[in-house]
Amino acid sequence: MSISPKKIFTGFDSTRYTAYNLGNFREIPQMARLSEEQLFEIEVVGRVLPFKTNNFVVDELIDWDNIPDDPMFILTFPQRDMLLPHHYEEMAELVKAGASPALIREAADRIRLELNPHPAGQLDLNVPHLNGEPLHGMQHKYRETVLFFPSPGQTCHAYCTFCFRWPQFVGLSGLKFASREAEHLVAYLKAHPEVTDVLFTGGDPLLMSARRLADYLEPLIAADLPNLRHIRIGTKALSYWPYRFLTDADSDHMVALLRKVAASGKHLAIMAH
Ligand code: SF4
Repeated sequence: MSISPKKIFTGFDSTRYTAYNLGNFREIPQMARLSEEQLFEIEVVGRVLPFKTNNFVVDELIDWDNIPDDPMFILTFPQRDMLLPHHYEEMAELVKAGASPALIREAADRIRLELNPHPAGQLDLNVPHLNGEPLHGMQHKYRETVLFFPSPGQTCHAYCTFCFRWPQFVGLSGLKFASREAEHLVAYLKAHPEVTDVLFTGGDPLLMSARRLADYLEPLIAADLPNLRHIRIGTKALSYWPYRFLTDADSDHMVALLRKVAASGKHLAIMAH
């Protein structure tokens, strides 16, 4: 039985995804509730740290009568305290002075690097190797679990202000985990019988089209690896863009794909944020 999202989310009549970011957030009607100072703070912090939200979050999840304390607002709209005071002041001066995009970019990149984007050697440690070659786009942090970062899934329906993977979204060269190589994943799992779990993560893997996601999941199923017991998908689509499973153009294909994984005998787990 298909369920109309309109029956679930009364009053919300748009199931069409609209992203809001630094370039268009002032068009959100609810922004009229914020002072110019609050809007400016969003602009300043959003120059350094990634900012993206969407129409579902704005219209359904945020209580605009409780601004600025609403938790969902704090979770998705940049907050002044996310930057150190001297970083904030530096960027605020540039924005106020109408500095060129190149100058702003240069300052933003420097500030980002000072924020220690990959603490504890995340770029170098835990990178698995196959035949002596590093497999970028994968991490083997825990004995039984491999983290896999499919390259088309390295973004999210909305960014969390607490995100610890933000370097992936701001284009800092050399800081992005990614892999297009589903076959490398299969080969690595064959060579590592101790691995029982693969966690698809990102970003949000369910931002990928169902077809693209199938390019990763189907080889995994077809390989029929006896050691692989759990296929986990880290996603917040259920809460931040539920139309991914209801009315998006390929939502039926997406649900069918997830069913196919479950029917293969592997345990499919949605790690819902
Ligand atoms: S869902 Fe994860 S990767 Fe995406 S913005 Fe939030 S914390 Fe970052």
